Amino acid sequence: MKLSRFTYIVDDYPEPTKSLVFNGRTEALIVLNHDVRELLRKLPTPTESLTEIEQQALHQLAQQGIVSPREIDENKIMEDWFHQFRYSTKQMEVMILTTYNCNFACPYCFEEGVKDKKYLHEPKADQIIEWMQQKALKNNPKEIHIIFYGGEPLLNIPIIEYIGSRMKSWSGEHGIKFFFSLVTNGSALTAKVADRLVPCGLKVAKITIDGPKEIHDKFRPFLNGKGSFDIIMENIKAVADKLQVTIGANFNSHSYPYLFQLLDYLEREGLREKIALIDFKPITDRPNQVIADVTACPTHETDPEYADQVLNIKREFMKRGFKTSEPMGTNFCEFKAGEMKSIVDTNGIIYKCPSMVGLPQFGCGTVEQELTQNVMFQNLMKMKIVDFEKQCKTCEFIPICAGGCNWMSYLRKKDYTKVYCEKKLYKKTIQDMVKLKYEQEMLRKKRKNQKTELITIS
Ligand code: SF4
Ligand code: SF4
Repeated sequence: MKLSRFTYIVDDYPEPTKSLVFNGRTEALIVLNHDVRELLRKLPTPTESLTEIEQQALHQLAQQGIVSPREIDENKIMEDWFHQFRYSTKQMEVMILTTYNCNFACPYCFEEGVKDKKYLHEPKADQIIEWMQQKALKNNPKEIHIIFYGGEPLLNIPIIEYIGSRMKSWSGEHGIKFFFSLVTNGSALTAKVADRLVPCGLKVAKITIDGPKEIHDKFRPFLNGKGSFDIIMENIKAVADKLQVTIGANFNSHSYPYLFQLLDYLEREGLREKIALIDFKPITDRPNQVIADVTACPTHETDPEYADQVLNIKREFMKRGFKTSEPMGTNFCEFKAGEMKSIVDTNGIIYKCPSMVGLPQFGCGTVEQELTQNVMFQNLMKMKIVDFEKQCKTCEFIPICAGGCNWMSYLRKKDYTKVYCEKKLYKKTIQDMVKLKYEQEMLRKKRKNQKTELITIS
């Protein structure tokens, strides 16, 4: 047996003489007693040289992926794992841009200068619906999830209502679960709008907030310069019982010191329990030609410069009882995924990454064509997720990194097929991330009144 390369160990945690282990591929999180930790130090070792008790302990750990037989090629397992992600047909997820237009004038927004008034209209929406239905008939997913974004998607409410209601009834007739989400600035998400959209399938609204009122109003004003914080908060209070509201906030070094004041505000206003999820992301450098809302990219975007802040923020969320996303998951994004995850803009052009939307050179054809027939898409499917041959061959972070962000790779190396390596960041944060994961798991169990213990192998 050998220790899996993707097992990370935190010694003397959660208490002295114990160790916490986490496997990035299986996501198993286990507390080990001192003796088992010592046993792991002996690996790799032939099983015959171990006592029966030691063999039993290793057998349990092998079931969780913490250790594996010595002959197993873990890169091959990862290759198969990525392949399964890429070609899974369980869920179909389509992001649809309802408009490139926006009613905000955020100073960091790179839509400035290229923002246009393009809206999605019914004839194109009909083609998009037909395209989605054909894809669903071909692949038989269990669930269809549409994410409307923009620009500001709620500047085009009728088209959301139109697509949502048509897809909801079609999915129902075909025994497929359906719901849709919004990535919105929240300024138009009134109770009335929620009452219109919930019956069409609206379940989740991800609203972007940039901090307490003074900070948010500076970073996210309306086009006329007026602050938007009060209106958004009124809307959140009015809709939080009708749908799941999640907050996705941006921060930079200037706004970071004020972020906790936003949490104070949410607590004071009784919103802590009503917010389904809250996450803050650093605003990283983006080129000035990006024209869609990149907060729609659901993967972790972390700059080493902000690593400590991201950890502090997550810890503070948890301390105060806010629900936040898992500190570590895989970075396997829609760009690497197959035809079941795609993005369609107002012209019916298909993209694979929210950051590339509006840049036709990155388009994978249009909804008039079957995506798998498109040459750019076919090339993307041939793209290696990580560099198993050289750079990533012995890397312990393959499951969580998944080759990093291809868009950043394009920005830095002018080649999106190359990996974007963040090994430095992972090395710096892995121990804290595993601890956070444990703390989050404990909180979750406590909330559900479950035993606040993980598997302990002794
Ligand atoms: S390539 Fe980067 S920006 Fe695009 S979807 Fe993937 S992680 Fe997000
Ligand atoms: S890109 Fe870097 S961090 Fe990611 S798997 Fe390859 S070597 Fe590891």
